[in-house]
Amino acid sequence: MSDEPLSEAGFETLAIREGLTRGFEQEHSDPIYATSSFVFESAEEAAATFAGDRAGNTYSRFSNPTVSVFEKRLAALEGGEDCVATSSGMSAILTLCLTVLKSGDHVVCSKNVFGSTVSLFNNILTKLDIEVSFVSLRNLEEWRAAVTPRTKLFFCETPSNPICEVGDIRAIASIAHASNALLAVDNCFCTPALQRPLALDADVVMHSATKYLDGQGRVLGGALVGTTELMADVRSFVRVCGPSMSPFNAWVFSKGLETLQLRMNAHSASAMALAEWLSAHERVTTVNYCGLESHPDHQLAASQQSAFGGVLSFEMAGGQDEAWAFINGVRLMSLTANLGDVKTTICHPASTTHGRLSDDQKREAGITPSLIRIAVGLEDVADLIKDCERGFKALSA
Ligand SMILES: *Cc1c(COP(=O)(O)O)cnc(C)c1O
Repeated sequence: MSDEPLSEAGFETLAIREGLTRGFEQEHSDPIYATSSFVFESAEEAAATFAGDRAGNTYSRFSNPTVSVFEKRLAALEGGEDCVATSSGMSAILTLCLTVLKSGDHVVCSKNVFGSTVSLFNNILTKLDIEVSFVSLRNLEEWRAAVTPRTKLFFCETPSNPICEVGDIRAIASIAHASNALLAVDNCFCTPALQRPLALDADVVMHSATKYLDGQGRVLGGALVGTTELMADVRSFVRVCGPSMSPFNAWVFSKGLETLQLRMNAHSASAMALAEWLSAHERVTTVNYCGLESHPDHQLAASQQSAFGGVLSFEMAGGQDEAWAFINGVRLMSLTANLGDVKTTICHPASTTHGRLSDDQKREAGITPSLIRIAVGLEDVADLIKDCERGFKALSA
């Protein structure tokens, strides 16, 4: 097939057709190349392929055609030059760090990032003498003040989990660039369907494909998107160290991308409806959803996102007892810490996803005992509201 039809294509067309290959059997859906290695016609061809003088696959730790489809498609959707897929979101972050950082370097990271990201920075990178400073996502002065002559990487996640704070990607990128540091954005919550950090001057986009890119809670994977030059270094790291994505998982993610825009719009619409309904409830004191006009970051979110995503959180008037009674009262929503699934999930961050934070850290991150997080799935929103009514009924039981 010619590349020509996709040169000016829109997001949904790219999501469905970019990277598509068609093999010997003229199949209409991408095949899964379940093979660890590839064969050659001659010793000369093998030598040229291994040397990189000839295009072609050699071994699936280095590259695999099914994984390449996913990489091309995600790169196009993020508006990046190239993409490297990894075995999980966490291995994408580790890969990025070990590609761009060396011993003695320094990272500035927003405070409310994914729990394992904090552990990776604090427990693993520190072993390599790489230091990390955590700053408030919204406070640009803190980003600026944290920079040292050794700062090489800025890392942030926006909107934040679970209280939906929003970071100004363009402003944070400009502070990073003034110090010759790269800005990496974990775009897990929005996905390129709602937010494209590279267009806002970020240098690298990181994904946990496990969440919305699959969208049905089935497989683990991750990805990095950025310039050809940086991705070449990333690819070398993956080739040697092996956090490669499996072909089957890549196939699942490529199928997920086909419906990404539709799903993200639907997650966002349902989350908005539920956030509005919860805001009007007498037992709820606060709803954190950047789609609500009352949210302090609403304007910023509206300027850099096309919708507000599927994750919201809210606080119950009656503290942890009420939060737990509500969670125990719902019947439809799944009590699990995962998100980005067609199935709606509910959790109590203070005792699960953020349970290891100290009381001070929890307070600072807005993780109160009365806080409940809902990652809104794609069920009928009327049924989700009915389920919340069950939760509220359980308070008086
Ligand atoms: C889940 C998640 C990760 C880690 O991804 P895995 O695929 O579980 O390794 C990183 N960042 C965010 C925001 C996540 O939600």
